[in-house]
Amino acid sequence: MTDLLGNVFRASLIGTYLTRESPLLPLVLFMEIQTDVVIVGAGPCGLFQVFELGLLGLKSHLVDSLDYAGGQCVELYPDKPIYDIPALPVCGAKELIDRLQEQISPFSPTFHLGQQVHEVTPLENGRFRVVTSTGTRFDCGAVVIAAGVGSFSPRKLDVAGFEKYEGRQVFYSVRDKSIHDGKDVVILGGGDSALDWTLDLLPRANSVVLIHRSSDFKAAPASVERMRNHCSEMEMQFLEGSVVGLVEDNDSLTAIKVKTKDGGVRTVPVEHLLTFWGLHPKLGPIAEWGLNLSKNRIEVDTEKFQTNVPGIFAVGDINVYPGKKKLILSGFHEGALAAFAIAERLNGGEKVSLQYTTTNTQLHKRLGVTVDLS
Ligand SMILES: Cc1cc2nc3c(=O)[nH]c(=O)nc-3n(C[C@H](O)[C@H](O)[C@H](O)COP(=O)(O)OP(=O)(O)OC[C@H]3O[C@@H](n4cnc5c(N)ncnc54)[C@H](O)[C@@H]3O)c2cc1C
Repeated sequence: MTDLLGNVFRASLIGTYLTRESPLLPLVLFMEIQTDVVIVGAGPCGLFQVFELGLLGLKSHLVDSLDYAGGQCVELYPDKPIYDIPALPVCGAKELIDRLQEQISPFSPTFHLGQQVHEVTPLENGRFRVVTSTGTRFDCGAVVIAAGVGSFSPRKLDVAGFEKYEGRQVFYSVRDKSIHDGKDVVILGGGDSALDWTLDLLPRANSVVLIHRSSDFKAAPASVERMRNHCSEMEMQFLEGSVVGLVEDNDSLTAIKVKTKDGGVRTVPVEHLLTFWGLHPKLGPIAEWGLNLSKNRIEVDTEKFQTNVPGIFAVGDINVYPGKKKLILSGFHEGALAAFAIAERLNGGEKVSLQYTTTNTQLHKRLGVTVDLS
């Protein structure tokens, strides 16, 4: 079965069942996406991996636990300039990701964002089953792990009792802002996410209180000024302090206790509590996939950037080998060699010859460009 984007699905037979009328009926429980390669992580190295595989005629699907592509570049330093990308004397980190997205667009990779790869299982036929946290399943010929420093997880409130309200009244990201309409919202944090969501939800919520441990903000000064203006107009409140407890009633979170600068404890009513204290990386499920690890990084060879499990490759910050440098350009080189090794693997071991993008018409066709070679 093929969808409008050309993705190939296969219904998987996981067993049979018996009924009185029909002795043996197939039991089909899930659909699997069939593809050449699944790339775990859509940071700069995962994105460039798509390009190198695409040149060799291979189709990729990318999975990332974040809601957007770009990895550390977008998550940690989007506006900072990078000076060591070859042939780009200076390039903003987010700009680099935009350029990579443009470069890989001829190969139409499919992105599966906001889901973590949980399971990578080698199958007897030499292929792999990959399963994500939201239940997306793949059957692929090779896996490239480009997971950087691991999945980014939100820094959570470390006061006991809040966890049982997660997803109901306590949130660490905003997927659908309409769920906060008409609610008494409390936002924790002093960075761009906290300030942006404060300003965004203010017209929609019944009330908004922003709480931060100090009056120094990391957020853009213009957003801080807008927030302070709204406070002066009595449209919202800003409170300097930290959360020390919660008030519950009948299995609902009704208020939080906030220790303020003067040492007092205030009770702040809340229906929805949104915490934006940044993200921290966690290796997560990768540690369970039977790969040789060294200090939380995956050991690879330097010929193919293959792990100890044939068919599973690792590129970018997640891998380690003698002399490894955690630089974007190292990941680009690793992706090129991994792609050739994958193409050979999927080609029954037959050598794949090197072609130049300047002169090879097959590569031009794959890139969707017309070149006058006369
Ligand atoms: C402040 C700062 C400045 C930097 N400046 C430079 C510089 O000037 N030049 C340079 O070359 N490098 C620089 N770096 C380093 C550079 O950002 C990294 O080398 C690069 O981001 C590594 O890319 P990557 O694709 O390997 O991993 P990442 O960018 O870390 O992306 C990995 C992605 O994988 C996802 N992921 C992880 N596990 C899973 C899973 N199980 N399922 C789904 N998704 C998963 C993560 O969510 C993440 O999006 C800098 C880094 C920082 C922090």
